[in-house]
Amino acid sequence: MTERLYYHDSFLYEFDAQVVDVVPSDSRQAIILDCTAFYPTSGGQVFDTGWILSGSNKFRITEVAEKDDGTILHFVENTLQVEKGSRIRGLVDVDRRRDHMQQHSGQHVLSAAFIQLFNMPTVSFHMGAEACSIDLDTKNLTSNQVEQAETLANDIVMQDRRVGIRFVTQEEAQGLGLRKLPPVERDKLRLIDISDFDLTACGGTHVASTGQIGCVLLRKAEKVRQGWRVEFVCGKRAVATARRDYATLVESAGLFSSHIWEVPQQIRKAQEEVRALRKSREQGLEELAEAQAAKLLAETPEAGGRKIVARVFADRDVVFIKLLAQKLTRHSAAAIALLGTSLGQPTLVFAQSTGQPFDMGALMKESLAELGGRGGGSKDMAQGGPVRAEGLDAALQALAAKLRG
Ligand SMILES: [Zn+2]
Repeated sequence: MTERLYYHDSFLYEFDAQVVDVVPSDSRQAIILDCTAFYPTSGGQVFDTGWILSGSNKFRITEVAEKDDGTILHFVENTLQVEKGSRIRGLVDVDRRRDHMQQHSGQHVLSAAFIQLFNMPTVSFHMGAEACSIDLDTKNLTSNQVEQAETLANDIVMQDRRVGIRFVTQEEAQGLGLRKLPPVERDKLRLIDISDFDLTACGGTHVASTGQIGCVLLRKAEKVRQGWRVEFVCGKRAVATARRDYATLVESAGLFSSHIWEVPQQIRKAQEEVRALRKSREQGLEELAEAQAAKLLAETPEAGGRKIVARVFADRDVVFIKLLAQKLTRHSAAAIALLGTSLGQPTLVFAQSTGQPFDMGALMKESLAELGGRGGGSKDMAQGGPVRAEGLDAALQALAAKLRG
């Protein structure tokens, strides 16, 4: 079992230790020390990184993990050249550790705030690379409650309360009113005591006083299967997150040439404009298709009691030619529309007035067998995508001639 130096001092960033063993683990090499200040992933907090100095060699520690028996494995980046029994010096990556202390200590404060204000217990804690989150055991959570918890958490930060470490036995722990007891039975419990605010069992690394958390910023709150998940960031992470949010807002406001506070209003206005434009465009297209259908029917001679309109459009999209096909076949009781568009992805639309004898789906399949591509449809309406726009007009004229008989 490795002695955990971080249990007693979270600010110990350099330490000397003896190499107990070097073991292969998951195609990597891991070093086991008699004592360590490196924190292994556990209790929601992620591992420390850093370096190990051995003689004149320096090795990067990329991950630290804990085995069931309490042994701590330090994974190294490349092949390790340290002797079993030799002395090494360990250097913890300070920036990463400080960040983790801010997030994890902030979590204690926040979890306690949710308990004190609304009696909502924290069931799990996740520390991500970007943001952290706690899952609260509650059916409902309002944005007002989120704000209240954030306010209380930041009050506790401002008050710069002492964060102490205590070791007690299971029996001693019973009467202390701990917020959370660890799932595993250990003879000695490590308690984190935020003076007159929160007392909980935890093995992680924490700040020495709440002021070092800097600040607690709550972000997304979302319903999850077993309660509510609240995302948060603390300290320098909160500043970095706020900085990025601000940059995003400034960029958005720049697009509207407005102040950042006016962005939602500007978006609403733009959405309304888009809706209005879309509506007026649809109306315009409807009228255009109507007029074009009338014109095409007027200039198409009747053959065998029906009018066959065959036309490829280079400047109209598939939405329009479908609309046109609809108008043609509804305006005349005996019309066949063989339409195509070469705008964008080439598309064919075949349609006939109800009661006409042909099978548009079958004709589409026949045409595409020649032109290449896929498509099909019903007896009165079919759509297909030929591979090329070239030759579409000739194919439609040939098909029209065939249908005229
Ligand atoms: Zn903790």
